Amino acid sequence: MQVRPIATTDPHTGLRPGDTGTVLNVDDLGGVQTRWDNGSTLGLVPGVDEWELLCERCGDPLVPGCCVTVGDPAWEAER
Ligand SMILES: [Zn+2]
Repeated sequence: MQVRPIATTDPHTGLRPGDTGTVLNVDDLGGVQTRWDNGSTLGLVPGVDEWELLCERCGDPLVPGCCVTVGDPAWEAER
């Protein structure tokens, strides 16, 4: 699963609009541990950072039903 930051408060990441990363893990609090394309591994924090998940197939922001097949984690998250 790819993710793209909309707004982050962390000054150390060097992330810029349009950067993307790969979701490594989502913790119990909804934090998204991400390996960014620039090599950092900042976690995104709900309520602090804003981000959007990207559809693995078409690369567009993931919306319910976008290319998601039954059994995908994203599909499970919609249930
Ligand atoms: Zn799609």
